[in-house]
Amino acid sequence: MIEQISTEESVSKTMLKGLTLKELKDFFTAAEEKRFRGDQVFEWIYGHMAASFDEMSTIPNYLRKKLNLYCELNTLSLVTSQQSQRTGTKKYIFKTHDDLAVEAVIIPDPKRTTLCISTQVGCPLDCQFCATGLMGYKRNLSSAEIIDQFLMVSRDYGKNKISNIVYMGMGEPLLNYANTLKTLQIFAEEKTKDISLRRITVSTAGIAPKIVELADSGLKVKLALSLHSMFEETRNKIMPINKKYSLAENLEAVRYYAKQTDTRITFEYVMLKDINDRTDDLNALIRLCKSIPCKINVIPFNSISHMSPTGYAHELQPSQKFRVDEFVKTLRENDIVVMVRYTQGDDIAAACGQLAYKLDHNEAE
Ligand code: SAH
Repeated sequence: MIEQISTEESVSKTMLKGLTLKELKDFFTAAEEKRFRGDQVFEWIYGHMAASFDEMSTIPNYLRKKLNLYCELNTLSLVTSQQSQRTGTKKYIFKTHDDLAVEAVIIPDPKRTTLCISTQVGCPLDCQFCATGLMGYKRNLSSAEIIDQFLMVSRDYGKNKISNIVYMGMGEPLLNYANTLKTLQIFAEEKTKDISLRRITVSTAGIAPKIVELADSGLKVKLALSLHSMFEETRNKIMPINKKYSLAENLEAVRYYAKQTDTRITFEYVMLKDINDRTDDLNALIRLCKSIPCKINVIPFNSISHMSPTGYAHELQPSQKFRVDEFVKTLRENDIVVMVRYTQGDDIAAACGQLAYKLDHNEAE
């Protein structure tokens, strides 16, 4: 349950970040220290965003020394960050202790500032329209590495500036369920309440049984399903995971999710020319929206040409602007709530589906 990480000196240290409050308290109890040290360290990590044990002034000296010897606090180091001149979107590239790149993106908006975080390095799903899928899959991120994206960006960008978090970066959060859940449990604690769970969205390509599990977890985060088509055959083609967990199963799961959590489901819909923007697609989408509390997030398809895709992925084209407008207009005429996620950050390859950074040799050193 508690992660042991190997450092360069190959001493196995216990990672204290990414533990739930209960796990952290259990850790101190097991170490024959006072249980409330768990509360204090939790507060230091997530409240004060401390980057070292030495900053934890309420922890006695002898214990800080012990923590320095046997425990670890940090997982990621910043490689580079890049800000779009046009939109203010800021992309951060971090490096894990085993030299893998992790990306997080800040998306400022007049009403909110959203942080988009990654849950895996690469992605095993192979969605044909997504650059992350094309780079392949390396590994799951630990709960510490997931939450460290939030902590490191907060420290750089401003501690109280992030109002929303979306699990929409690299990877499929529900295929790294245990670690994703732990980070949500951390955000659910009173001490981290600056980010309320209602302002956190977990986005999934559709892992039906895990959607049900998340619904039963009692954590009422918002859920987004990357829908992209109402037809099984089309979804099989553009999202191969649909062959394992069908659209029908996923729709049943999200219906359950909406009911259990009393939240609206967000359906994400990347507009692909002649693939999911036909009248049949529109009508099927309208029927769905009338049967479930939801909103639609229409996303213009961001180019993935920087990945030189081949085969089917190479053929995908964005829907024409007039078609996107028509689609949105008709949905709205049917009283469906629609947001159009205008592309942000494509000038720095930070837009949806464009995250596929690889560290080159120099940066990894
Ligand atoms: N695996 C999760 C989260 C990562 S993708 C999921 O599938 O939901 C986050 C969102 O970006 C998804 O809705 C995804 O479908 C969308 N996306 C992927 N590639 C895109 C592209 N090239 N253009 C626009 N959106 C894209």
